[in-house]
Amino acid sequence: MDITHLLDPLNDAQREAVSAPPGHMLIIAGAGSGKTRVLAHRIAWLLQVERFSPFSILAVTFTNKAASEMRGRIEELLENSPGGMWVGTFHGIAHRMLRSHWQEAGLPQGFQILDSEDQYRLVKRIIRELGLDEEKWPARQAQWFINARKDEGVRPSAVDDQGDQTTIVLLTIYQAYETACARGGMVDFAELLLRALELLRDNPVLQAHYRQRFQHILVDEFQDTNAIQYAWLRLLVGSGTASSGWLFVVGDDDQSIYGWRGARIENIQQFTRHYPDAKTIRLEQNYRSTGTILAASNAVIARNGSRLGKELWTRHGEGEPVYIYQAINDLDEAHFIVERISKWVDEGGLRSECAVLYRSNAQSRVLEEALLQRGMPYRVHGGLRFFERAEIRDAMAYLRLVNNRGDDAAFERVVNVPARGIGARTVEVVREFARESQLTLWQAAKELQQQQQRLSARAANALGGFLRLIDGLAEGVRDLELADQVEHIRLHSGLVAHFSKEKGEKAQARLDNLEELVNAARSFVADEEEGQEPLAGFLSHAALEAGEGQGDAWEDCVQLMTLHAAKGLEFPLVFLAGVEEGLFPHRMSAEDPVRLEEERRLCYVGMTRAMRVLYLTFAERRRLHGKDTYPRASRFIGEIPRGLVQEVRMRGAVSRPSTVVGTTPPPQGGLNPGQPVRHPIFGAGVVLALEGEGAQARVQVNFETGGCKWLMASLAGLQSL
Ligand code: ATP
Ligand code: MG
Repeated sequence: MDITHLLDPLNDAQREAVSAPPGHMLIIAGAGSGKTRVLAHRIAWLLQVERFSPFSILAVTFTNKAASEMRGRIEELLENSPGGMWVGTFHGIAHRMLRSHWQEAGLPQGFQILDSEDQYRLVKRIIRELGLDEEKWPARQAQWFINARKDEGVRPSAVDDQGDQTTIVLLTIYQAYETACARGGMVDFAELLLRALELLRDNPVLQAHYRQRFQHILVDEFQDTNAIQYAWLRLLVGSGTASSGWLFVVGDDDQSIYGWRGARIENIQQFTRHYPDAKTIRLEQNYRSTGTILAASNAVIARNGSRLGKELWTRHGEGEPVYIYQAINDLDEAHFIVERISKWVDEGGLRSECAVLYRSNAQSRVLEEALLQRGMPYRVHGGLRFFERAEIRDAMAYLRLVNNRGDDAAFERVVNVPARGIGARTVEVVREFARESQLTLWQAAKELQQQQQRLSARAANALGGFLRLIDGLAEGVRDLELADQVEHIRLHSGLVAHFSKEKGEKAQARLDNLEELVNAARSFVADEEEGQEPLAGFLSHAALEAGEGQGDAWEDCVQLMTLHAAKGLEFPLVFLAGVEEGLFPHRMSAEDPVRLEEERRLCYVGMTRAMRVLYLTFAERRRLHGKDTYPRASRFIGEIPRGLVQEVRMRGAVSRPSTVVGTTPPPQGGLNPGQPVRHPIFGAGVVLALEGEGAQARVQVNFETGGCKWLMASLAGLQSL
């Protein structure tokens, strides 16, 4: 049998891992060293050389995308598609088992999966049904409590409340939630994993069956498994019996970035204790990046204390330096990135080879706008685009209703968000009445609330509160600038208070996004010719943006994603945007040494996505949380040896008068960043940046209608305003 194609494209250590006799194996290696490649080749080897049946293979990947890529790789290697093999995410595989064994799992045959929004709504309903004060017991907090318990494998009966009042109430909600899920045949994400674990644990017959079946269990990104997932793997693989299987896990402790979601880096450290006969293989050659990118990434991660410790090397040449760009502000940062991508494309590169990675979802808005302005298709991965996010849609619905009471969709969306005691039944009555009398929901609500016939006094009262709120908001925003209108609504609609009660990173991200909406309004320039009110103009802008720009699947798109979503991927050209203290490391993590190390690992993950060219950018001024901030460059930039980086100087020293006082040449033709100007053709705009001197001087202007342009300062005929 010809097996050269399985081993030839591998180095010695990789080959050893792929062709080892069956046994437990831990591959611990840095980024880009071929872990995922080894996993695919190992599966092909087991099938083709060791002649195991595809039915005996279970492979776990981190995302569905990774799972389908894994299948593709294996099919390519085998030149056919083996049926019967299980490849998927932990959740996908758990779901599959529960579907096959719904009876043993105590579920109805057609059980439903609750996504986290569904779960939130259910928890909310339960809190109301229990007669609890929703202000005091926010649904997000209860949801977080429930999921955290499930991730620990703790059912309500096993929670020890220690007489603590808060825990006692949360536990009551947890219990009622479990009952409701059981009644409705519903299973949430955490439940999928916990049920699958209990299924194997409590059913000796099934346990024996699966142990017999899956002789090879292979796990990618093992460093990010949580306690339940690891316990499930251990149950499935068994130990010491004739029917037990083998675990083949690959991971990198330096890339563990889901600690905040319960992932346990200790799983790697414990692995060799739980499986003392496991073979450990280290891969040290990196095939992905240039020497410089690798050295820079190694230097950053070397600052972390708790590491298993490993060094990567490469045969690739040094390549280009790591570029650092200090932008004047976030807008300038975005335009710089887009310009560099255009250049890449002009030189024959693909847009899909370029990735822009950021720490916080809210950062994508400015980047998306810069891409839209350039007409450059892009795709946001693992997250919704800015104007499609739930909290943004909520805020926009308030704005819409303030602008137009007849907007029924907006009415529906926020009539009870945040909760104000307007139940589904009340809304149904309003809908019916509106239908019968051919009124808008707003008009119908108003009438119903006044006649006090069809609605209970309580419902009418609650509805009246909502109507007064909207009228009050409309009153409050009169004569305000657009951005101040948005800010007024953000604060007085109750949305901020509503999301502030939630816990965790997601809630913080929602609050950040709401603040970012105010920034969006501030930088929005209404099209004067159309004679629209700024608010109306902004609303249509948002509506259009929500539906456009996202390139089709087959289209060549720039890739936008958070650093978390970039795990496992690689791109020739990578930008890390917003590499600033406060943003990255995140301000909530900077003080805590454990969390700071997780941030640094995230930085390592980001940098090591780059194959050929890596840019780190940061802004001197950024609107963050509604305020202008003047961040410093992230400490992570300072951790890269100076010899490996090069600062990109797009603009002359003029743009940084504060840091280079004394050596500053006079501003070009009296132009300064931030200065309003007028161009004979493009009209009014604001100077963003200046570069070069004398006849070579160039000026970057953000025009109100034409977007961002670089012009020759001496020829542009700009007039300062
Ligand atoms: P990460 O930690 O980021 O998930 P990884 O260790 O899984 O990285 P892979 O994605 O498997 O690394 O490999 C990185 C790149 O190097 C891929 O493009 C892969 O095809 C290539 N590669 C891996 N091993 C070899 C090899 N022996 N020869 C040539 N290319 C290789
Ligand atoms: Mg990988």
